[in-house]
Amino acid sequence: MSQTEFKIPIIDLTRQYKSIRVMIREAIDNVFDSADFILGPAVESFEKEIGAYCECNYAVGVASGTDALLLALLSLGIEPGDEVITTPFTFIATASAICHAGARPVFVDIDPNTFNIDADAIESSLNSKTKAILPVHLFGQPAEMQKIILLAQMYDLVVIEDAAQSLGARFNGKPVGSLGDAGILSFFPSKTLGGYGDGGAIITNRHDVAETVDILRRQGGRVKYIHDRVGYNSRLDSLQAAMLQVKLRYLDHWVDSRRIVARKYTELLRDFDFILPVEQSSKRHAYNQYSILVPERRDELQQYLRKCGIQTMIYYPKGLHAQPAFSHLGYSPEHFPNTETVCNRIISLPCFPEMEIEEIETVAQALKSFYR
Ligand SMILES: *Cc1c(COP(=O)(O)O)cnc(C)c1O
Repeated sequence: MSQTEFKIPIIDLTRQYKSIRVMIREAIDNVFDSADFILGPAVESFEKEIGAYCECNYAVGVASGTDALLLALLSLGIEPGDEVITTPFTFIATASAICHAGARPVFVDIDPNTFNIDADAIESSLNSKTKAILPVHLFGQPAEMQKIILLAQMYDLVVIEDAAQSLGARFNGKPVGSLGDAGILSFFPSKTLGGYGDGGAIITNRHDVAETVDILRRQGGRVKYIHDRVGYNSRLDSLQAAMLQVKLRYLDHWVDSRRIVARKYTELLRDFDFILPVEQSSKRHAYNQYSILVPERRDELQQYLRKCGIQTMIYYPKGLHAQPAFSHLGYSPEHFPNTETVCNRIISLPCFPEMEIEEIETVAQALKSFYR
């Protein structure tokens, strides 16, 4: 079923587009008039603004969030033989980027309340090959950055934050992605700052990282036809940058609206047997997803909601430790009891800035009638 076949889709990008259509069209026109389609002034201008938004000295636009992960790892010197600590409960790109860099992903189970890597369980997985920790701020919920950065300092590790789902979230007042050595963003359409196609960025305060990523994304050299190293073709295109710059102006407003949607859900679902997203005082959740744990019959619930015209998603049905792609890592499910439980009980509800109160009420009502 496509998004439009649901009365209440998980995200409705058409509503948002209607509200900014004129400005997006104008931005597209400007790019066509300039005839600069790859990198160029539109990308530089967007990089300045997204960097400033993230309170980072540098932002480097690349072709996708997946590429941002790979180039961040490479620019921080991750290489074959290295181990990188991450979570098994994330989108596959987090771990496949580690493999593409030649390193080995080492999974550490999650905290079942926040769905993020259990920072207290990291230390026992460290060894002399460990070079980096790659926490993911999942669904908009910041990971335990204070503990993670402390560990990294103690063991001389680099920290790369996967903030693909969490633009607009803050940890102790600071934008996620700005706390480690580098952070990565995705502009995939359904992300909180979504483009109209693929795109991503690396944000960092380290000049050396920004410079290396810039070289890597343009075939390994800044001077045409002089290549300092073997690089990639991974550039943010000017159209995406120009459209994203328009949308960036509304980002804080959209995150506030997502938080209002989340608060309404929490108010309506509180007294039932669901585990709801946690709000902690040190963290500002950006609610790219509103994901809950249900007590039982999750798949049946999803079918029921579908019949009611309500679209939901299972992010994620399987931990990465159990994916065929990572079978060579030799993990077994017993090592990840929290991830296993969460995979079986989680469901993500419709959540987007333009959602109407009545729609939130309809979803909450349907959930309650299913379990009654
Ligand atoms: C979306 C996402 C990515 C990858 O971003 P793309 O732009 O789709 O390549 C990486 N990590 C996480 C956690 C994501 O949600």
